[in-house]
Amino acid sequence: MPRKPILAANWKMNLGRDEEAIAFLRKIRRGLNEIEGLDLVLCPPFTVLYAIAALLGRTRIALGAQDAHWEPGGAHTGEISTAMLARLCQYVILGHSERRATRSELESDPAINRKVQAALGHGLTPILCVGENLEQNRAGRTDEIVSGQVKAALAGVAPKQAERCILAYEPIWAIGTGEAATPADANRVIGLSVRGALAELYGEDTALAVRVQYGGSVTVENIPGFMAMPEVDGALVGGASIRPDFVDLARAAAAARS
Ligand code: PEP
Repeated sequence: MPRKPILAANWKMNLGRDEEAIAFLRKIRRGLNEIEGLDLVLCPPFTVLYAIAALLGRTRIALGAQDAHWEPGGAHTGEISTAMLARLCQYVILGHSERRATRSELESDPAINRKVQAALGHGLTPILCVGENLEQNRAGRTDEIVSGQVKAALAGVAPKQAERCILAYEPIWAIGTGEAATPADANRVIGLSVRGALAELYGEDTALAVRVQYGGSVTVENIPGFMAMPEVDGALVGGASIRPDFVDLARAAAAARS
């Protein structure tokens, strides 16, 4: 079965007040909703999830959060659990490098594994981010780092559950820098390191069933190149997702696959 492409928008720590988030969503909602052949997910800050959920009700646009804690509840001041999010969202970004870089305990490989298991257990679809930093890339360690992160994050996850996950290959040096990977490199790493690790864990069929996005400085100009790659099943978009021309980016992504 061909994998349906999926485009996810990571608003990061932007558009966090109801008025501004709603105003932005009103600009893009109709355009996004008309796009076919692509799954679409918006991941706004926690503070506006309720407001955005109310406006997405009758659209085919899904909602995601940007992180979650693995415990269902309890003494974890400041955290939001997958159980809480499951009432509101369908997706949750996990292991984003902007978090892995600054929170070693909460974003270690074992912690991300617990988050993935908790998200799946509550019916959420994880968007699991993996990627090497510049030093690792220059040292030729991309495959080792990326495949190691995939295996660690999915440890103990059953094949049927793994098939529900979205993976995002996000080379850290490409995130928010304006320096995207080349489509050919993204394709190679996704095929070799991401699907390679999935095949080792679960076998070829599962490796071929899982959708894998590219993320890192994706723009309306470069998205067609990524979508043309056979291993790339869409994109996780940060900076370009909070601009009104995100609709053009999404249209270009869909057109490149039609
Ligand atoms: C991201 O936030 O996951 C991301 C890829 O950001 P950007 O598109 O801004 O590089």
